[in-house]
Amino acid sequence: SSTPLSDLDIARRAVLRPIEEIAASAGIDAGAVEHYGRYKAKIDPSKLSAPAPAGKVVLVSAMSPTPAGEGKSTTTVGLADSLARAGHKVMVALREPSLGPILGMKGGATGGGLSQVLPMDEINLHFTGDFHAVTSANNALMALVDNHIYQGNELSIDPRRMTFKRVLDMNDRSLREVVIGLGGPAQGVPRQDGFDITVASEIMAVFCLATDLADLRDRLGRITFGYTYDRAPVTVADLGVQGALTLLLKEAIKPNLVQTIAGTPALVHGGPFANIAHGCNSLIATQTARRLADIVVTEAGFGADLGAEKFMDIKARIADVAPSAVVVVATVRALKMQGGVPKDRLNEPNVEAVAAGVANLRRHVRNVERFGVTPVVAINRFPADTQEELDWLLGWCSGEGIQASVADIWGRGGGGDGGDELAAKVAAAVNGPSSFRHLYPLDMSVEDKIRTIVQEIYGADGVDFSVPALRRLAEIEKNGWSGLPVCMAKTQYSFTDDASRLGAPKGFTIHVRDLIPKTGAGFIVALTGAVMTMPGLPAVPAAMRMDVDDAGNPVGLF
Ligand code: ADP
Repeated sequence: SSTPLSDLDIARRAVLRPIEEIAASAGIDAGAVEHYGRYKAKIDPSKLSAPAPAGKVVLVSAMSPTPAGEGKSTTTVGLADSLARAGHKVMVALREPSLGPILGMKGGATGGGLSQVLPMDEINLHFTGDFHAVTSANNALMALVDNHIYQGNELSIDPRRMTFKRVLDMNDRSLREVVIGLGGPAQGVPRQDGFDITVASEIMAVFCLATDLADLRDRLGRITFGYTYDRAPVTVADLGVQGALTLLLKEAIKPNLVQTIAGTPALVHGGPFANIAHGCNSLIATQTARRLADIVVTEAGFGADLGAEKFMDIKARIADVAPSAVVVVATVRALKMQGGVPKDRLNEPNVEAVAAGVANLRRHVRNVERFGVTPVVAINRFPADTQEELDWLLGWCSGEGIQASVADIWGRGGGGDGGDELAAKVAAAVNGPSSFRHLYPLDMSVEDKIRTIVQEIYGADGVDFSVPALRRLAEIEKNGWSGLPVCMAKTQYSFTDDASRLGAPKGFTIHVRDLIPKTGAGFIVALTGAVMTMPGLPAVPAAMRMDVDDAGNPVGLF
């Protein structure tokens, strides 16, 4: 037979409907639709006649993943299509892809197989320019800060204690550490600086947690970008440029409407990292979708120990929304990896390894239950999976009392019958009882919040703070930031802070190296292990395969 179709091949065979038809089918007033070409539009929430947000939220999370990803985006899209097929009024809410991983290794973020959002090439490349706007706002702030220092530094900003960097939406390791302002008195004040990737910018996190324009301005104003010579925090509001930054973001902040291959409406908007930030699409997109649909299917980055916990303890508090169900995506290959199989042998049949890996899935599922939300396991079927492996896994879930279903949303699509059973189980969970609770109250100390997360969710014995982290805790207390929730930065491959410890380990300690107050986004990042805020490109970047054909069509975009 021929080689299997790539995601791009499948996407290009799909017939797209004009975006105004998708908007109309979603109940979006024509006056709220701002066209960006034929198949993309921004939606102005202030021009919608739809009622206040009331749609139920289905959060798609996962077990600990393999480096290739377990199909959360694919499942988010496919499940929404299946729910739509079953007659529900449904909308997808997803993050926008970053160019760093696209040109590098991980690939796009538009789903895969028959479960994709379209036009996938445009969404994966510049889309509607939101990331460029965030990049510009971030770099405008830094230009204004350095100019302030150059013009006399009335605020006494200590150039050695800057906590904010410039950004680019690119994997570019050579920009991690730079020196700026060289060349003499007319070229600015020299200082050590560096670049992060745009998705790691606090402005991106702010963008994704703001409830409206006014809240966006307030949050931008609260960003701490550095400290004075007296070690007092300096904020954007001290500099007085929150208005200008809001202006630079005023169009970008409107959610982007696109469609799935099956024609389900999808809002794809914002894209914060899931390590240094909270890892889900903009709150404005989620809330807009909840005004339009009865069920909103959305995704949170990495495994349920990271993305789902942050959704529950950070985003859910701000949006005042409780997920009605959490889908935990599991794959046979990830279970095998958790069962100790090396990465190059994950495609070989191995029921024993699947059985050895389920402890990892169990801990994620039980964690979801701690939040008072019903978990449903979606077994994302891959071509290499054997029936024996899938049957064993279904049998195990049933023995554990866990709702589970094999979904072939990649191969058959949610618009086909690949996700019917999963959709039925999710719909039942959505309509069933739920008693959502956060893991910790905000008035708990930052130290105890971290201890609660590592003990309750990761299964650690406790937490060990480095000397700099302890100093930071005192600073956080002194500056009045103790009431903020915590955003954990930890490897996604393990419940521990050591990527090589698989399964559901016991008897370990989490090491908090440092704490970074993100006072605009409104959380304290707790760094465990090394966290990359400017990734690098691999030896053979995905960019090597990319091109455009003579007709202007993309080539090699996965
Ligand atoms: P995540 O959101 O968890 O990172 P994605 O949904 O982006 O994962 O999927 C990662 C990659 O795996 C994509 O290239 C997608 O096409 C592929 N993929 C997802 N599900 C399947 C499947 N069931 N079979 C084969 N490939 C899949």
